[in-house]
Amino acid sequence: MEQHPTTWRVGNVKISKIVEMELGGAPSDLILKGLTPAEVQAVSWLQPHFATADGSMNLTIQAFVIESEGKKIIVDTCVGNDKTRDFPPWNDMHGPFLTDLAAAGFSRESIDTVLCTHLHVDHVGWNTMLVDGKWVPTFPKANYLFARIEWAHWQAEIAALKAAPPPPPVEGELPIDPAQVMNDSVIPIIEAGLHTLVETDHVITSEVSLIPTPGHTPGHVSVRIRSNGQEAIITGDMMHHPYQIAVPDQCSNFDSDEEAGRVTRRAFVKAHANDGVLIFGTHFAAPTAGHIVTDGATYKLKV
Ligand SMILES: [Zn+2]
Repeated sequence: MEQHPTTWRVGNVKISKIVEMELGGAPSDLILKGLTPAEVQAVSWLQPHFATADGSMNLTIQAFVIESEGKKIIVDTCVGNDKTRDFPPWNDMHGPFLTDLAAAGFSRESIDTVLCTHLHVDHVGWNTMLVDGKWVPTFPKANYLFARIEWAHWQAEIAALKAAPPPPPVEGELPIDPAQVMNDSVIPIIEAGLHTLVETDHVITSEVSLIPTPGHTPGHVSVRIRSNGQEAIITGDMMHHPYQIAVPDQCSNFDSDEEAGRVTRRAFVKAHANDGVLIFGTHFAAPTAGHIVTDGATYKLKV
């Protein structure tokens, strides 16, 4: 079997990926709105890593740990264990994420900073863990960074849902109950006083900073790593799948502002085509990272 990297160097920065879950052969429209298997098959470079021959999608849920200037920063904390979720594969999980994190060299206590690119269910789960029936911070010594406008957005959403409950979820779609997610994965962090609300261009170290990439959610951020003349970007859910590099106008089923997402993706793909920046997709299957290059009239991810 082909061996894919699990760590990378970008200048003096080290990036490690910790996989929580791999979804091989997922329906083409599970995440990407209205996408057909034929449309996936038409983008032939997606195979074999990112799509199957029958037009299904390979997806991953993973966290990245960035080591920069003595800091250990975990970017996105996946789904988490023991959480009650409507989506059966994510409900009451008992996965080895923390064991895998430790095996990669990162104890819970060693993490200095937690950065959630946005506050969706699969990006905040390991913010907390269940101890004696209570949700406690998984990373007790960390400063948890949430974008100020992202937190404000979810507070407003929850208030609106309380006032007017939504219809039941559509069959086959992933339902998300934001109040449930905030209650077990965000509010315990705020109550413990471990959070900092930051702007969407916040600087974490001189090598690592946030860049605003709104659309999927209003306060969505990606993460830029610049060190020693090299550069990388972790996308978060600005894009979910490399298909969106070939077709930046393709939206996901969960974008709060689809047009803003399209504008962000178009600009991003164009800006980084052939510029040597290593792009890490938060939900990209292995090999996880690559370079955007022009491909005829559009673009592809070269891995
Ligand atoms: Zn996600």
